[in-house]
Amino acid sequence: ADLFESPDFYCLDDLLTAEHKLVRSAVRDFVKREITPIAEEYAQRGEFPEHIVRKFGKIGVFGSTLPTEYGGGGLDQISYGLMTQEIERGDSGMRSCVSVQSSLVMFPIFTFGSEEQKKKYLPKLAKGELLGCFGLTEPNHGSDPGGMEANFIERSDYYLLNGSKLWITNANIADIAIVWARNDQGKVRALIVERGMEGFTTNEIKNKWSLRASSTGELIFRDVQVPKKNLLPNAFGLKSALKCLEQARYGICWGALGAAMECYEIARRYALERIQFNKPIASFQLVQKKLAEMLTDITQAQLLCWRLGTLKNEDRATNAQISMAKRNNVEIALRIAREARQILGAMGISGEYPIMRHLMNLESVSTYEGTHDIQLLILGAEITGIPAFK
Ligand code: FAD
Repeated sequence: ADLFESPDFYCLDDLLTAEHKLVRSAVRDFVKREITPIAEEYAQRGEFPEHIVRKFGKIGVFGSTLPTEYGGGGLDQISYGLMTQEIERGDSGMRSCVSVQSSLVMFPIFTFGSEEQKKKYLPKLAKGELLGCFGLTEPNHGSDPGGMEANFIERSDYYLLNGSKLWITNANIADIAIVWARNDQGKVRALIVERGMEGFTTNEIKNKWSLRASSTGELIFRDVQVPKKNLLPNAFGLKSALKCLEQARYGICWGALGAAMECYEIARRYALERIQFNKPIASFQLVQKKLAEMLTDITQAQLLCWRLGTLKNEDRATNAQISMAKRNNVEIALRIAREARQILGAMGISGEYPIMRHLMNLESVSTYEGTHDIQLLILGAEITGIPAFK
């Protein structure tokens, strides 16, 4: 753990336990071995490295905070955060896969599912033997999921599901989908839809310029007969879906920080090695200004993450606190990636370095799980008591 390379200007490692550091270095080693060497190639090809799912399962990053009796890791929220931080140092697309599986698939089954559903799905999801996706966004409803059109009608022994979901991470490769839809009474509920059910199809979204090493797609339901036992019995209304997003957004706060730390480290090393005008470019004041501001932003984001994690461990973190950290950390990560890109000059646009990949990935991270502006309006509503987005 002592060899861990990361900017830690305020000695935040002192606040971590031995277990936190162990988890972090195990995931760090994994990322260096399994993700960093392949991320660029898969991103350039526009392909998700499917083999990584089983490997994620083996090292225990799926459902790391859930109890061990369901295959979870029984770890705390800081450990979960450090995992997403390290994975996103590799690639935001790989981290997206882990966020979806842990926070948007396993978390709702654990929190809102029946005992039978938990036993059936969670251990396999934890091992990466099953992969899931989360269908909330629709073609006509992104920031406003409350307007969703997907719906199901109760029949004698099944629900008849119709509608579609767009921009869904893992859509094309997932074995199961947590699908949010309205019932006969117009109430939002969640169903577990399995691949292979008649009338359920998926399409890949091609030609993305961001999260190219992640699979994103569409879920289509045409008269799909979903067995009644696949309804999550305790998920009621949009607030249950938002609870899952809260969990995933928390992981993103740390993930974006990981991407920022990676870009900073690369820029710092490059600035010391690159010679112009017979000096390392690190000796120029303008380059030092960039590095100093990056480190300040990273340190602030690290403090937000750590404190948010401790509040989450005590079950005290609010939705608005998570929104503040998600918005801030993605913003500083984008800024740091852009500044790092400048420091590397032409090399900054090359696949030799991961800077441009992080920069483009972070554009999606800024939009998904609630856009940059929506996070701000959640804060605005908290401050004033007036929701401006409705
Ligand atoms: P819109 O809602 O159309 O917003 C467009 C713009 O209008 C934004 O700038 C927004 O801030 C602004 N805006 C909207 N309403 C207001 C308002 N009231 N006040 C001020 N400004 C407003 N969704 C899932 O359900 N599951 C997934 O797994 C998933 N994965 C994704 C992966 C990727 C790569 C991407 C890009 C998206 C993914 N999404 C997923 C969808 C994502 O959550 C939505 O894109 C996001 O919520 C924004 O919705 P939208 O794209 O429809 O934008």
